[in-house]
Amino acid sequence: MLPAAILALAPLLALAQEEGTITGPTTSPESLGYSCDPSKCKLPTCNCASTSPPGGIKPSDTPQFIVFTADDAIQSYTLDAVNQFLAHRKNPNGCAPKMTYFTSLNFTNYTLVTDWFVAGNEIADHTMTHVGTPPADEINGNLIALNALAGIPLNKIQGFRAPFLAYSADTLKLLYQSQFTYDSSAAASVPVTDPTTDAYWPYTLDNGMANNCLSVPGTCKGEPKLPGFWEIPMYSFFDNKGAAGPHLMDPWLDAANGATKANDSATLEYMQKTFTDHYNGNRQPIGLYTHPIHVSLTYPGSTTTKSTVAMINAFLDWAQEQPNVWIVSNEQLLDWVQHPVPVSQLDSVGSLKCSTPQVDSSMKICNGMPGNEDGLLSHCAFSDFPFYTCYGCPEVQPSPNNPNPPQQVPDGQNSRFRLPQNCSTPFWDPIGGKCICTSDKCAFADNSRPIGPNGVNLTGGGIGGAFTSASATPYVPFNGDVSTAPLGLWPALLVGAVGALIGSMGVLTRL
Ligand SMILES: [Zn+2]
Repeated sequence: MLPAAILALAPLLALAQEEGTITGPTTSPESLGYSCDPSKCKLPTCNCASTSPPGGIKPSDTPQFIVFTADDAIQSYTLDAVNQFLAHRKNPNGCAPKMTYFTSLNFTNYTLVTDWFVAGNEIADHTMTHVGTPPADEINGNLIALNALAGIPLNKIQGFRAPFLAYSADTLKLLYQSQFTYDSSAAASVPVTDPTTDAYWPYTLDNGMANNCLSVPGTCKGEPKLPGFWEIPMYSFFDNKGAAGPHLMDPWLDAANGATKANDSATLEYMQKTFTDHYNGNRQPIGLYTHPIHVSLTYPGSTTTKSTVAMINAFLDWAQEQPNVWIVSNEQLLDWVQHPVPVSQLDSVGSLKCSTPQVDSSMKICNGMPGNEDGLLSHCAFSDFPFYTCYGCPEVQPSPNNPNPPQQVPDGQNSRFRLPQNCSTPFWDPIGGKCICTSDKCAFADNSRPIGPNGVNLTGGGIGGAFTSASATPYVPFNGDVSTAPLGLWPALLVGAVGALIGSMGVLTRL
């Protein structure tokens, strides 16, 4: 029998299917009207929209970044789907790749958000209930609920992607007001080999937007001016129809080259071709923008095949065999863009390193580390989508109007303490209400290692071997999976009501 949480995910299949499709150029030279003076707009706080690498770095000295993102609810299924592609890989410095999860909270299992964040990934905002051109409460409510119930520090939630990639000039202004660092909803829709390409490196909106000029009224030609706020364009792949054949999100779902149905071999071919165009050119990032539900082999109703999973891994294997290729989150990409260094100096880039929080594995603490938090999670048995959390169940389901409801406090139990601003998530004990580490010494151990000669990826990625439609792909299931555990293992412990304190501080506490 399927757990209710899984059945509740079914509507997401339909939602995700509609997202992220473009059919041709979304910007033209006439609609662009962009001007920016690089002598006035300087890193790290300002960057003109440009097809050249930031900071005057030569393309041959520029890393080729592959941005990996996932959208929508976080469930054990979706993390397993992501792990099929990432868990067995390493970047050139020996670190496991990190990715960005644009999280929508309906149907999300909050404790898995905590776990995924503590494992080093970026958590970003995708509205609470998955609405396009969202009002402020959908955007800010997501921040507040992620902070209150998943323990994600507000200042770590830096990015936003609009559901259905539907945003307006006002959406960008709302993000700016809420002190987001970046949006990543706009498409780069013209191939880098075309003189009118709109595949800009990430840029600030000091001089307005430079993407989606044909599709979003009130943007471009200098608008909206949002100093220091970044757009990280989503870079399309292109099949042999060129600008008339863009593939943006979940390209493996699309038919290519005018065919009537998707074909993994054709997808792989054009993904490799587009990658090579970037790699041999100005090295604008490549993006794998996934809806995990569409690459899950275990989610009920998913039509994903082993062939598609193997094809995506074959693409990443192939890409990682080339020097100076890194799989990164948006946060990591943006850090490099703000502080660009040539590939010979990447060892010094802190955001590309990996580290492990130093917490005694025998310690019982609800901190986003599965071994430590075993048995300490609260089960919040809401009928729409039950979830688990370290931070105490709310009395009612969080909603845009009420993103941080008071905690339930069963008789004789104590409330849980929400993450304060001066403690890192893996060191915060929500039950004891104390921070177990407040100094650099006890904090994180650096697990990265020197990059190989000429940036070569010595640790490699990949699973080896060529893509064949029949090959199964080994991967490591996400070990924070609690949604399939017997409910008896997760007694509703110690739930309480500290929520109002943090909730009332809202987004003002982000800096
Ligand atoms: Zn979405």
